[in-house]
Amino acid sequence: MTKTALITGASRGLGRAIAKEFAAKGYNIAINYRRSEAEAQSLKETVEAQGVNAVLAQGDVADEADAKRVIKTTLEAFGRLDVLVNNAGVLVSGRIDDLSFSEYQLAMHVNVASVWLMVKAAIDALEKTGGAIVNISSGSGIVGPPNQSPYATSKAAVNGLTKALAKELAPRGVRVNAVAPGMIPTDMTQSRIDEGIEDYIKTVPLGRLGSPEDIAKATAFLADSDAGFITGQILPVNGGRHGA
Ligand code: NAP
Repeated sequence: MTKTALITGASRGLGRAIAKEFAAKGYNIAINYRRSEAEAQSLKETVEAQGVNAVLAQGDVADEADAKRVIKTTLEAFGRLDVLVNNAGVLVSGRIDDLSFSEYQLAMHVNVASVWLMVKAAIDALEKTGGAIVNISSGSGIVGPPNQSPYATSKAAVNGLTKALAKELAPRGVRVNAVAPGMIPTDMTQSRIDEGIEDYIKTVPLGRLGSPEDIAKATAFLADSDAGFITGQILPVNGGRHGA
């Protein structure tokens, strides 16, 4: 029976690369997106060309009804769920003096509530397959860089959620881990990269920016049975750069 992976926020950036990596490993793919329908449709065609089946599962994963509908769409299409990748997220940055409370709430809502809601909606299906959850966190949630208070707080919360759920769901046969990327070129980081990234790269021991594929491969490893004795871990994928 072909396994199924659901990737949230798969229309662009890291989620898109993660979807292609799971397709390369032979998984059927459920593609969640919120607004970028054309990009999601083109990803569906790309992974189908890789020889697997795909379904579009539109929905705001920070909305409870949508989260349930995304899982329902996945199960109606494929009848099973083996891997849930909680990748959807937003970057909210700036000095605390300049940020509004609603911007803080947006980061917490999209980055944290979505993970909780999606796990809650998916757990029965994941338990049936002995599945795995991988949350895409961030090095910001470990380091706490300046001028990223909402984002860093939200990703630290994702790390706590990952550890708590790992212990809670282990007796049900479901593993929960997180990948904590360093800076990777995507729409999310484009403006920062446009400002000039040479100084940042000098601080990366491996001497380059990571790629979406670097994150996708680490995600696929944590979901795979090769990582079957790993749960509750936050895996930094950052070229060795752990500073703020
Ligand atoms: P991105 O290029 O901005 O893409 C974000 C994706 O999330 C889009 O596909 C977007 O879908 C989706 N999304 C946002 N809110 C959503 C919601 N409420 N419901 C469903 N989908 C939603 O970002 P990225 O760089 O690929 O980031 C992906 C994840 O990696 C995020 O959690 C981010 O915090 C994390 N991360 C990124 C980096 C980096 O350097 N890029 C570093 C560390 C961690 P639509 O286009 O359809 O709206």
